[in-house]
Amino acid sequence: MESAKTILHRYWGPDWEFRGCQSKAIEALMNGNDVLVVMTTGGGKSLILQIPPLAMGKIGIVVSPLISLMQDQVQGLLDRGIRACLLGSAQTSSDSEALDGSHDIVYASPEHLLSQEMLERLREAKDKIGLIAVDEAHCISEWGHDYRTAYGKLGKIRSYIPSVPCLAVTATATGRVRSDILKKMNMFHENLFVFRTQVRRDNLCLSACPRPEEDLDLCKAILQRAEDLGPTIVYVMTTKQADYFHSMLPGSVCYHAKLDPQVRAASHRAFITNQSTLLVATVAYGMGIDKPDVRFVCNIGTPATLEAYYQQAGRAGRDGCISECILYWAGSDVATIDSFQSRHFSGDLVDCGMCDVCTMVSETRVLESVHRRLLTSIHTLGGRFGMSKAILLASGRKCTPLWLHAKHMQVQQEAPAPKNTDWASIAGFLVGSGLVEYKTVDAQRSFSAPRLTPRGLSKLRAL
Ligand code: ADP
Repeated sequence: MESAKTILHRYWGPDWEFRGCQSKAIEALMNGNDVLVVMTTGGGKSLILQIPPLAMGKIGIVVSPLISLMQDQVQGLLDRGIRACLLGSAQTSSDSEALDGSHDIVYASPEHLLSQEMLERLREAKDKIGLIAVDEAHCISEWGHDYRTAYGKLGKIRSYIPSVPCLAVTATATGRVRSDILKKMNMFHENLFVFRTQVRRDNLCLSACPRPEEDLDLCKAILQRAEDLGPTIVYVMTTKQADYFHSMLPGSVCYHAKLDPQVRAASHRAFITNQSTLLVATVAYGMGIDKPDVRFVCNIGTPATLEAYYQQAGRAGRDGCISECILYWAGSDVATIDSFQSRHFSGDLVDCGMCDVCTMVSETRVLESVHRRLLTSIHTLGGRFGMSKAILLASGRKCTPLWLHAKHMQVQQEAPAPKNTDWASIAGFLVGSGLVEYKTVDAQRSFSAPRLTPRGLSKLRAL
């Protein structure tokens, strides 16, 4: 067995050093343990699955969800003089050759590996195999955002090669997904090592701001930013929006599931090679995109989950250079923004000093103050007046009966509200996030008035 460092220097170059948990994870695998690595996109997971088999002089089997991703990886290894091949629909070697010792690293689709014939081959070759690695392991879990049925069955392989160490790597941070991976891959035992790097990406400046009313203004802002910053991905929610914004953004290329595969591949190529530095895409432009110098990721609309947002924003700055991520929200999708909290990432996002919340430079703090104003007004009006009255009161405009009522309640708004506040969106947000609800006041006139929910009340106290 050679040392991991020797292999790193031989194939990657004498200047390379391991970073983060790479060295420890590799060592754990070479000592025969199972390993789960949770590392941010761009963190360097590939080396962890590529180096141990080379150092042990055995075969590494790597399962990966995308053919294009595997092709890139295999080509990258071949370029370094490492004997790699691909099994699956774009097969570069026969099944028997792949396992006869003439290859060091074998990439394969989960469907291919799970065929009975292949499982038997693995059993026969078990003494030659040094590692079974599952890339993008969150695809194993139904709780992840990219569940794949065949991935969910990968645990079966372990009964055919029981003494071969297993490595699962993912950028997904939720505990539920992690424990699902361990359970399904039979990794819950004392010889398990878990490495989890910080979720926070120090080089990403994150911010959220209201989407301009006119799409033309929005596109102008994006074009300007893209020109200043460099390669840009604009994520939108639907294929229709992708086509629309592609037509609105000169020089852009487009990527979504409904496009012809050749058009999609051409867009990807154009973006990767900087022929076009502006890509408009849906979530279909996802896993395995290895463009290190994406400088700006812009979301028009709120992704379905925080995890999805994290993955999309995470495509910026994989090379570690400062990059920007802006989410343009609208009243209609703003309820989801409430979930942009560290509940989700076990507190790792607190005090990063990079995003708008921590640096207090953008709309977010202003938003908090307008939330407070409107919550206060709704509370003051005691569920007897409509939302428009609450907005009048919150905006600080005088309205005699309301002022009297407010004065009676000893509640006054402090400084004037920020100009151009989109009160209707703020009201929509408060209702959408369950802080305010409507209660019928006069059924005959179908009049209902807003009032604070218990959550709204405690939020108001906390603000
Ligand atoms: P991940 O799979 O975690 O998204 P990769 O393994 O593709 O990330 O690595 C991201 C980038 O970082 C690649 O360009 C890779 O060559 C580089 N990289 C990884 N590990 C190191 C290291 N120890 N030193 C220098 N560069 C590294």
